[in-house]
Amino acid sequence: MNENERIARDFQSRDEEEKRAFLEQTWCDHCQEVNQGMVEPEEYELNNTIFIEGKCAKCGHVILTEITDEEF
Ligand SMILES: [Zn+2]
Repeated sequence: MNENERIARDFQSRDEEEKRAFLEQTWCDHCQEVNQGMVEPEEYELNNTIFIEGKCAKCGHVILTEITDEEF
């Protein structure tokens, strides 16, 4: 088994408030600013950690959010 395999998860199945929070509460390494917003979110599991990957709404740089709470 490939341990580095991404397992796709359905971001859209999260509730609206949660999705909005993930899409608004961002940190962009490129802009060096918080809460620029995220577009094109994709959620996946990798090595037992959940990630939400998207693009900065301002500059298009990839934003990766690691979900550390265990509420999934
Ligand atoms: Zn940015």
